[in-house]
Amino acid sequence: MWDPSRPRRECRGAGAGGRGAGGRAARGHDGAGQWAARGHDGGARMSALVAHGTLAGLAEIAGVGRDPRRGGYSRHLWQGPDLELRAWFVERAERLGLVVETDRNGNLWAWWGTPGPDAVVTGSHLDSVPGGGAYDGPLGVVSALEAVGRLRASGVTPSRPCAVLVFAEEEGSRFGIACLGSRLLTGGIDADRARALTDADGVTLAEAAATAGLDPQRLGADRDALARIGLFIELHVEQGRGLIDLGRPVAVASSILAHGRWRLTVSGQGNHAGATPMGDRRDPLVAAARAILAVQDTAAARTGARATVGRLEVVPGGTNVIASSVHAWLDARAGSDADTRDLVAAITAAVDEAVRLNGCSATLTEESWTGTVAFDPALAGRLGAALGGVPTLPTGAGHDAGVLAAHVPSAMLFVRNPTGISHSPEEFAEVEDCVAGIEALETLLRSLL
Ligand SMILES: [Zn+2]
Repeated sequence: MWDPSRPRRECRGAGAGGRGAGGRAARGHDGAGQWAARGHDGGARMSALVAHGTLAGLAEIAGVGRDPRRGGYSRHLWQGPDLELRAWFVERAERLGLVVETDRNGNLWAWWGTPGPDAVVTGSHLDSVPGGGAYDGPLGVVSALEAVGRLRASGVTPSRPCAVLVFAEEEGSRFGIACLGSRLLTGGIDADRARALTDADGVTLAEAAATAGLDPQRLGADRDALARIGLFIELHVEQGRGLIDLGRPVAVASSILAHGRWRLTVSGQGNHAGATPMGDRRDPLVAAARAILAVQDTAAARTGARATVGRLEVVPGGTNVIASSVHAWLDARAGSDADTRDLVAAITAAVDEAVRLNGCSATLTEESWTGTVAFDPALAGRLGAALGGVPTLPTGAGHDAGVLAAHVPSAMLFVRNPTGISHSPEEFAEVEDCVAGIEALETLLRSLL
């Protein structure tokens, strides 16, 4: 029987050469002891996870990418913590007997059986938003590994291939495009456009990919990899209160709201903070403040609409300098594609009017768009039946499963989040609910394999 608490003890004793593995695996093998040790420092919640061996994987990575300034975790594509998590995943999956490969876009696949067509694929992501929670992404990866480990330990011989998949840059925290790994895989973003994306330091995706050991010229649609997926299931902590209200630990997703990201640039006149009278200013930061209020008021007046500005960049950003421009990023979502487009049109008009009060101008540029996703009803029905009847819930949060849904039958399982809060250190899931999620995923995989 696979015992998730055992390997950590083995790692401490085995040392780097314990399996005679190659450099990458050896690195992960070495690191497992550190991961486990740091996991024990993660507070009472993580202690509960460690005590519950089923979730040892979450405890092992509890110390990776902690962000003391923001709180929670900052784990961004191919930077230190993300690389550590990738090495951890490789080591964990190989210990289960899975064969790990990195595809041309940096997504990690851990195969049970020969990679091939009609595979049952499950997984999520390991990267986070800045200052994110411990569960968004990793819960799906840890649950997938645990479910596959249980099936292997119980002697299941799959009739079709199975893989655990970790998508790259799901949150878009480094290069600005959410679900970048799945969009690249499916051809949902033009490869040249993707290669030219830059991070906050001006590093392009192409440069970052090369540093991570990928060939930047091979980034982009990967028809062969996509053709191997028969269906995809993503388990995810719920990012809302649906399951709290229902009093249930697990649900199947029905749909994802249409959503997108836009860059709002407010332009004014940079000038001296002391030498410019108040009446002579065209201050884009004050105009941006009005614009943000206009965003809020416009969305609040529409049923089911959501609009957020969560990020600002003030140029040049000096205490004694009136800014010359401000970049703000708008995230907007509504119940249908048309409703979301209407919302953004109304926001554009309201923002134009608001910034004019300060003699400024504004432009809104679309950076990404995902239409409403209705998950495969046949697959959702099959999953619901296999689980003996669970509720179905829509979600306002985007996911890689939503990107894949346009190409292969896809489904999601949500695990209750008792705080109802996500993309924040307060995101949480009770151990019992995480276990219920793993058991549901195991049941589904068993029924599909
Ligand atoms: Zn997520």
